Amino acid sequence: MQNSNYNFKRFRRLRYNPIIRDMVRETVLTKNDLIYPLFVVPGSNIKNPVKSMPGVFQHSVEKLVEECKEVRDLGIPAVILFGIPEHKDEQGSEAYDPNGIVQKAIRAIKKEINDLLVITDVCLCEYTSHGHCGILTGEEILNDETISVLAKEAVSHVEAGADIVAPSDMMDGRVLAIRKALDYKGYLKIPIMSYAAKYSSGYYGPFRDAADSAPAFGDRKSHQMDIGNINEALREVEADIEEGADIVMVKPAGPYLDVIRKVKDKFNMPTAAYQVSGEYAMIKAAGQNGWIDEERVMIESLTAIKRAGADMFLTYFAKDAARWINKNE
Ligand SMILES: [Zn+2]
Repeated sequence: MQNSNYNFKRFRRLRYNPIIRDMVRETVLTKNDLIYPLFVVPGSNIKNPVKSMPGVFQHSVEKLVEECKEVRDLGIPAVILFGIPEHKDEQGSEAYDPNGIVQKAIRAIKKEINDLLVITDVCLCEYTSHGHCGILTGEEILNDETISVLAKEAVSHVEAGADIVAPSDMMDGRVLAIRKALDYKGYLKIPIMSYAAKYSSGYYGPFRDAADSAPAFGDRKSHQMDIGNINEALREVEADIEEGADIVMVKPAGPYLDVIRKVKDKFNMPTAAYQVSGEYAMIKAAGQNGWIDEERVMIESLTAIKRAGADMFLTYFAKDAARWINKNE
């Protein structure tokens, strides 16, 4: 018997019927949330599997273009490119070579596909022989010398046709240096997506296989953030916005949902989050072992990132997620 002076709430009323559940869902994934990271290598006809990231490959340029067509056909709006150069040197000079691997890849994609956004990662660690994110003196990464090279790298990506540049190095002042360099060349309309709060995380392990960018000595703790800090993350994000960032990013995503939420609430900026290689590898490995339902956990992990406040996410699951969205629309 229903009692008119009941003293508890019946939340389940909205849960019995799947149609009602769909109507009241607060966070819904869409294909516009997705950015797919891709790795490009020199050579031709190459599609190398990345061992620690099942389903992820290093592509030579023409294979990358094929891959981008598939990505576009699935309805994913954007890719982000990481280059593995032919030659590495102390200064990472291929990073800003007009005929560097990323520059070639951008031109090849843009020649064939006009409705896919090409974002480029701007850092030096893939290009330096020592695997560090900047110019060294001894074992120290020099800040101000590095940011002028990053600005050259960003300009050369845009000259090749990149739609957005995404500095990931965590040097101080790089967003301002890049903004000034782009504006000076007349690229006023090119947005900067800054990796604003990037932590020194153990979750990046598999990426270093994919991008061949493990440091030869030491670590990245002199520039990436300490895992315990959130107030500092807000100061980093604030500085990047002041310097000219148009989109701010938190990286990694899943273990840093609190940071995403605070950044979104405090700054109301377009906010990206990077579901990194280790987050992907763990879900994949457990799925392949039959320990979890991979598809279900993938969707749950991405929904959590969006629910925390991210407007878009870089994820190696982008193609799988787009297929799931297409199937469930
Ligand atoms: Zn780097």
